Amino acid sequence: MATTTPYRIVIAGGGTAGWMAAAALIRFLGQGFAVTLVESDAIGTVGVGEATIPQIGMFNASLGIDEDAFVAATRASYKLAIEFVGWTRGGRYMHAFGDVGRDNGLLAFRHTWLRGMAEGVAAPLCAYALNNVAALGNRMQRGPTRTVRVLPEMPYAFHLDAGLYARFLRDYAEARGVVRHEGRIEAVTRNGADGDVAALHLDSDRRIEGDLFLDCTGFHARLIGEAMGVGYQDWSHWLPCDRALAVPSARARDFTPYTRATAHDAGWQWRIPLQHRTGNGIVYASRYLSDDEAAARLLAGLDEPALGDPRPIRFRTGRREQAWAGNVIALGLSSGFLEPLESTSIHMIQSAVERILKLLPGRRAPAPLRDSYNRQAAHESERIRDFLILHYWANDRDAPFWRERRETPVPHGLAEKIALWRETGEILREDGDLFSDVAWLQVLVGQGITARGHHPLADQPPRAQIAEYLDLLAKLNAREVAQMPPHSDFVRAHGAADAEIAA
Ligand SMILES: Cc1cc2nc3c(=O)[nH]c(=O)nc-3n(C[C@H](O)[C@H](O)[C@H](O)COP(=O)(O)OP(=O)(O)OC[C@H]3O[C@@H](n4cnc5c(N)ncnc54)[C@H](O)[C@@H]3O)c2cc1C
Repeated sequence: MATTTPYRIVIAGGGTAGWMAAAALIRFLGQGFAVTLVESDAIGTVGVGEATIPQIGMFNASLGIDEDAFVAATRASYKLAIEFVGWTRGGRYMHAFGDVGRDNGLLAFRHTWLRGMAEGVAAPLCAYALNNVAALGNRMQRGPTRTVRVLPEMPYAFHLDAGLYARFLRDYAEARGVVRHEGRIEAVTRNGADGDVAALHLDSDRRIEGDLFLDCTGFHARLIGEAMGVGYQDWSHWLPCDRALAVPSARARDFTPYTRATAHDAGWQWRIPLQHRTGNGIVYASRYLSDDEAAARLLAGLDEPALGDPRPIRFRTGRREQAWAGNVIALGLSSGFLEPLESTSIHMIQSAVERILKLLPGRRAPAPLRDSYNRQAAHESERIRDFLILHYWANDRDAPFWRERRETPVPHGLAEKIALWRETGEILREDGDLFSDVAWLQVLVGQGITARGHHPLADQPPRAQIAEYLDLLAKLNAREVAQMPPHSDFVRAHGAADAEIAA
């Protein structure tokens, strides 16, 4: 950097988004950068966001964080999958991380499985997903499998205490030089010339100037929304849930290495087991369910006593028209919100941080850089949106909320994806898609959308050979899982913080 004046990055907000950004920026930007974070204890954080996807492991590793220390500090448990209960009438299935079956050269496993199903020699899809078999057996392991050439390692994520994760990252960031200011942002000054943000004004009369501002103020969107006036693209006609109630309950005896998402008449309920408690919440559409009914349903669905009163949260699904405007980039809830069904929000913070680091502007941001960032951010959230809509659209439940979901036309890209699968058993993953073809496969099959065709190559082997191959894969999975330790033993050995679980 040519100048000696430090490049000042100001982060407004200290929830998961603010502290993830602070930790990563201070880790990857060297001398010449000053990172400041402003947060208000009086305002607090949204206080949810406890289920993650495996990419978070890479984020932590890139910061040099020891995984067991992170698990202990955030009272985390391991997560292999999400179990969906009742999304189709009475049914349950898992969207497990990792692979399903084994591809045969060019031929994706799903075609072999579809042929096996047509021949009556295939087991349900879940038998071929190592993560699924392990999750159902409450088992956990990390590292190579015994049959490493056939079964890859199990990818895993975490259930974590969001407040403790932010605290953990705060300690990390402050130890490396991030300066934190406590206080409420009362006003934001913009330059007359270009409209960029010049400074934040705190209730303590402090003024914080910067070159680049990251809006991590959550649903308040204090900078991107209020100060910059960037609009919000509303997706609630596709994803109409607009409220949640969250409540912790006593630690579950059934300490599962997966999140559970149970559908109800007007939305769904989550269950996230941590070492010291279970996180629960109900997500619902207020047009179809009152707050009182939602609270009663949430409390009735707990498997242990509640540890407090349900806490209400309101939201609107959608995304900011531009995540980056002027010299403000929105991360986390200020940039938009897709409901938490596939635990994608924390990941979207992570990918935004990566994008910011890659496309970090000079003191003046050229428009093409901003446009490119905004295009990538929009693409990412639209693809995730479509995946979420699939869960709602492909239902056969008998309630007004669910009927309306079935009858609402889906976005064009999703309609094409479903048609392709139905006709050919094919699933295409495009550049920038977060979810793999295997993730789509599990949800398409789980939600009861059947494929009429499969790849002609899958018709080549004789029926008996297909049967033998599928049988072998299922047996290998079962054998591998049989020697894995129970999830609670695994946590005891790798990151137990709690006396109860460490005992
Ligand atoms: C019901 C629900 C369930 C969710 N579940 C999941 C999940 O399972 N997995 C997942 O990945 N994500 C989940 N999320 C999303 C996840 O909670 C968020 O992505 C994550 O917590 C990041 O939030 P944030 O940091 O953007 O905002 P917040 O946590 O709200 O933090 C905002 C920060 O800004 C500060 N602030 C705001 N206004 C001002 C001001 N004027 N002055 C100073 N400071 C200010 C606040 O004090 C706070 O520090 C869920 C969200 C909801 C609503």
